[in-house]
Amino acid sequence: MKTLYKGLALALAVILFASFFGCAASKTPTLDKIKKAGKLVMLTNAAFPPFEYLGDDNNVAGVDADIAAAIAAELGVKLEIIDMDFDGIIMAVQSGKGDLGVAGMTATEERAKSVDFSVDYVSTTQMIIVPQGSPIKTAEDLSGKNVGVQLGTTGDLFATDYIEGAEISRFKTGSDAGIALANGQIDAIVIDAMPADQIVAANAGLVLLDEPLTEEQYAIAIKKGNDDLKEVVNKVLEKLLKDGTVDALIEKHMAAAAN
Ligand code: GLN
Repeated sequence: MKTLYKGLALALAVILFASFFGCAASKTPTLDKIKKAGKLVMLTNAAFPPFEYLGDDNNVAGVDADIAAAIAAELGVKLEIIDMDFDGIIMAVQSGKGDLGVAGMTATEERAKSVDFSVDYVSTTQMIIVPQGSPIKTAEDLSGKNVGVQLGTTGDLFATDYIEGAEISRFKTGSDAGIALANGQIDAIVIDAMPADQIVAANAGLVLLDEPLTEEQYAIAIKKGNDDLKEVVNKVLEKLLKDGTVDALIEKHMAAAAN
């Protein structure tokens, strides 16, 4: 009898111990870490207006910077922004170089294998930019042409997968592609709709075709397992979507970035 009690007591102790530490371990400490550091680190590529661009003071401005600032404010920390190549952002989120990838980033199934995504905050499409008077009138006409895209983006994927016999020129930024198109080095650009408007506004002699090519949604990339951070990000995004702030920010930065 005695040994049975001892055995039960031991089993109970093991269960209590395991559940205590099990609970502690399953609670992701990301928020604690961010609060301790006093800063939320956003990773982006600041050449994608109106979502991110360099403002007059050379600081990163844009819809995404404002959204990230609202998340930082909710956490009571300051926002730090790291400007890097777009095609390195997913890996940098995975390795913990920053807390959030906020870069007009389309939530794709492929990327979702590497990172978690917040709720969607923008619905958009890929568009085609051509020089005025170009013989390219539809996506079909792109076949066999030299098409500029931004490296590692959904525009790159679309052009690579769906345009037959196209030569793809991959640029670091959409702005670089815009300059190459204006200079006649390429025949067209495939890029997200709102940045496409900005490229057309910034370069004389370019026009947008009105055929939407894809359906995609932007979301914020978060390291897998950082569920406590994701919860706060979603809460802030849902509020900014509901009260019209996201729309207002797009309008404001479409106008500001075009100057
Ligand atoms: N939305 C596109 C993508 O996710 C482009 C993003 C960007 O260039 N910043 O690939």
